[in-house]
Amino acid sequence: MNMHQAVKSDAIIPILIVFGGRNRANAKMDNGFKTWMCLICGWVYDEEKGAPEDGLAPGTRWEDVPLNWTCPECGARKEDFELVEI
Ligand SMILES: [Zn+2]
Repeated sequence: MNMHQAVKSDAIIPILIVFGGRNRANAKMDNGFKTWMCLICGWVYDEEKGAPEDGLAPGTRWEDVPLNWTCPECGARKEDFELVEI
């Protein structure tokens, strides 16, 4: 008797996981902006917001940031920044 109930609930759970996972993946692809953090001082660069006061327009991708650009807080170079996974 109990075995029948167990099989029924096991079949429902994987379906919920599949649908939830797919929606989350799509949302992440629509917004491809990344966030980078200075390893020296912790200053954060958000591609979506940019850094208008430091010459980077909102939406500027990290690869489009000039190589001679430096961290506004501590002067670290691009190579001292690390991608932040959200
Ligand atoms: Zn810095």
